[in-house]
Amino acid sequence: MSYRQFFHEEIETLPKAQLQKMQLERLQAIVERAYTHNPFYRELYDEAGVKPSDIRYLEDIRKIPLLEKKTVRAAYPYGMALVKPGGAGGAVEVHATSGTTGKSVPVFATKKDIQYWADLNARELWMTGMRPGDILMNCYGYGMATGGFGFHYGAMAMDVMAIPMGSDARQYERMLDFIVDFGVTALCMTPSVGLYVGGKARERGINFAETKLKIGLFGAEPWPWETRLKLEELFGITAYDEFGMTEFLGPGMTCECYVRDGMHAWADAFLVECIDPETGEPVEEGQDGELVWTWLAADGTAMIRYRSRDLSRTWWEERCVCGRTHPKIAAIKGRSDDAVSIRGLIVFPSQVEAALVKFPETGANFRIIVDKRDGLDTFDLKVEVKEARLLTNVERVQQVSREMAEAVKAITGNSPKVELVAADTLPRVSGGEAKTASARVEDRRKQ
Ligand SMILES: [Zn+2]
Repeated sequence: MSYRQFFHEEIETLPKAQLQKMQLERLQAIVERAYTHNPFYRELYDEAGVKPSDIRYLEDIRKIPLLEKKTVRAAYPYGMALVKPGGAGGAVEVHATSGTTGKSVPVFATKKDIQYWADLNARELWMTGMRPGDILMNCYGYGMATGGFGFHYGAMAMDVMAIPMGSDARQYERMLDFIVDFGVTALCMTPSVGLYVGGKARERGINFAETKLKIGLFGAEPWPWETRLKLEELFGITAYDEFGMTEFLGPGMTCECYVRDGMHAWADAFLVECIDPETGEPVEEGQDGELVWTWLAADGTAMIRYRSRDLSRTWWEERCVCGRTHPKIAAIKGRSDDAVSIRGLIVFPSQVEAALVKFPETGANFRIIVDKRDGLDTFDLKVEVKEARLLTNVERVQQVSREMAEAVKAITGNSPKVELVAADTLPRVSGGEAKTASARVEDRRKQ
């Protein structure tokens, strides 16, 4: 049976000018609603001297103050809500960020939101080649974070069977059994869980060419192209990048099409801007900056001009080769919170990963440890090795450590002191939402 090319053709291929018209109407409506029904926004906008009627063009969004995470946290618990819990038209589901660095940011979803969420996720699964009858093993967390539920609802909306595995990589045996025994055709997880589980599969000698697995969606943390190649090799799949934030019920915000040149950001649901993180001014299209998101289609929660701290680029083609007309963002380069300044140079964990993943000796995890000794920054890098055997060969350890240090220096400009350690000895990124900073970087200068 052959299927259509798009899950929701009309909206996915709507001409750019019409999408922008829709964006303006939705922006005006959500600003009006927030101002009228939400005391937090009314106070914020009154203070900034901006009224809903000031939004006459899309560019007028710049008149609206940017939302910092700490401002949104201060509105905890119900400050960003547009509806009451439960009741007709009320919130029926709540999710929240992990709150590892402060109070959680909650997001309230009405039935209308859940339906829209399902549609956005189904578009993404469809876009990566999944079709009704496929089996998706969902290895995102089914909890307060949104990864699990988002793809789950998406799978249901497009008649794909979802296996709600969850994100705990310790159950890798079960994950691998299910892929083989149930004929799983697609999986989604964080890249770091993927590297771990894929490595275990290799140890077990699983030949994925003999399974039905063909598609992998990876996201929730920045990952370089080199990791994609590794994941494709480990699982015998085509790997796609997707990105979303809990604050917006992500996933379902952005995903790659088969062209894999940037992720489409659904313009009917979200408006994405790219700003200079220092000045808050927009950067030129295609230039690096910080992503700022506005949730245009929101029903239960108002998120207007929220600073993500994610560094990327945006651009908007009239029509992608795939036929879709929605704007694109580049793979997330890192979070401005993650970026660690060492000896005056900015280092991202994703850059270090890009350097390490090329080595066959590299295991599933690494950790950057920065400290200060005698007034100078130190840069230590612990790298898990794939095979414990290597650690007994002093000469090889020295050689591999030196080569890794050189590879990291070539990308970041900073030369680390590399220490090879046994597998499973470093804290792991388990997914659900980006925890990259805490798991991969330990900045002892801040303690
Ligand atoms: Zn495309």
